[in-house]
Amino acid sequence: MTDLSAINESSLPLDAFVEPAVPAAHRSHQALVRWGSRIVTIGGGAPVRVQAMTNTDTVDAIGTAIQVKELAIAGSELVRITVNTPEAAAAVPYIREQLDRMGIDVPLIGDFHYNGHRLLTDHPACAQALSKYRINPGNVGKGDKHDRQFALMVEAAAKYDKAVRIGVNWGSLDQELLTRMMDDNAKLAEPFEPQQIMYRAIIVSAVESARRAQQIGLRADQIILSCKMSGVQDLISVYRALAKRCDYALHLGLTEAGMGTKGTVASTAALAVLLQEGIGDTIRVSLTPQPGEARTQEVVVALEILQSLGLRAFNPSVTACPGCGRTTSTTFQELAKQIDDFLRAQMPVWKLRYPGVETMKVAVMGCIVNGPGESKHADIGISLPGTGEAPAAPVFIDGEKALTLRGDNIAAEFHALVENYIEKRFGSVAVAH
Ligand code: SF4
Repeated sequence: MTDLSAINESSLPLDAFVEPAVPAAHRSHQALVRWGSRIVTIGGGAPVRVQAMTNTDTVDAIGTAIQVKELAIAGSELVRITVNTPEAAAAVPYIREQLDRMGIDVPLIGDFHYNGHRLLTDHPACAQALSKYRINPGNVGKGDKHDRQFALMVEAAAKYDKAVRIGVNWGSLDQELLTRMMDDNAKLAEPFEPQQIMYRAIIVSAVESARRAQQIGLRADQIILSCKMSGVQDLISVYRALAKRCDYALHLGLTEAGMGTKGTVASTAALAVLLQEGIGDTIRVSLTPQPGEARTQEVVVALEILQSLGLRAFNPSVTACPGCGRTTSTTFQELAKQIDDFLRAQMPVWKLRYPGVETMKVAVMGCIVNGPGESKHADIGISLPGTGEAPAAPVFIDGEKALTLRGDNIAAEFHALVENYIEKRFGSVAVAH
């Protein structure tokens, strides 16, 4: 039987030291994506960037400009738009102009498939208005056309000094390359599993295309690579191998993640593992919007992934307990949601007025069990009364109990306390904290 008296602090072995989890650093070239004076750095030690993609018809220039603006305000640092027809290419400079007029300097990325070589050649104003081109090596043409059309796109990027993403997607993998690799594999005495060849073909397509782009005239720091898959384990396997084999900046995302909880969880599961390993310099969460859901949801999820991992801070975080049988009222749920909504809504203004406010932690807790403890760990926290507790809600500020709220107006009073705290701590005349 275990001798319980032997379990004490002094008996903890030295190897019981708890290693802090620190995301690994990824070494890569740093790509610069520019529009005007706005420069978004990708890779090379820059913070992991968030990007999103519109789902408007690009020909609808006003509708597209409005959605780009919404995505940018939500926190997308780069926004990709579809450029699939001559009409869409003709609309791109107008979209850019609209955004500039609205004071939105987010760089635009053009998403090209099949006819990008023609669109970039025939529409120089489009090529100029975009800050980055996405090239899918599986969709640039077959046979000898492939190399020529790929070269035309790369030459446009070199001419206008734009960054490119060489974006391989397993749903549109270069079939000639895959067939060749499958045939070579079949000749081996001990052939690899077909899945292995698929992984290899995806990586080879990306890396070889990047090398070709450099031979044509791009610098390594103009190139960003991606190898998107829709399976979480597939994505992890491929990106680990890709990161070992190249030092280009990497765009990371689970393609066709799906909608709602499934898409959110699958994207988070895949991206969290890789980001923790230092793999991924810019991310996109490919959510299918649910009916009525805003396109900006994919940005919200991307920001949350980075903030949850401690890689970046975008919004003050609200810690709230899940609630249980000790608190049967929904007061704390409502208060937590109100505070969260309020903080998010204010951030576009606050991030300019109150530098550092994005690192603030607010706790809204449901009862005395974890309420005071969790509230003390937050910058400002409230422990609401659980069932049967005295109707009093202690508020903790910077780890100390500051006051107790009572009565029917607790929510509004706590709201005011949070605002007051932000003004005092992060306001321009704030004293050092
Ligand atoms: S803090 Fe209280 S109400 Fe909230 S989950 Fe814990 S025990 Fe339940």
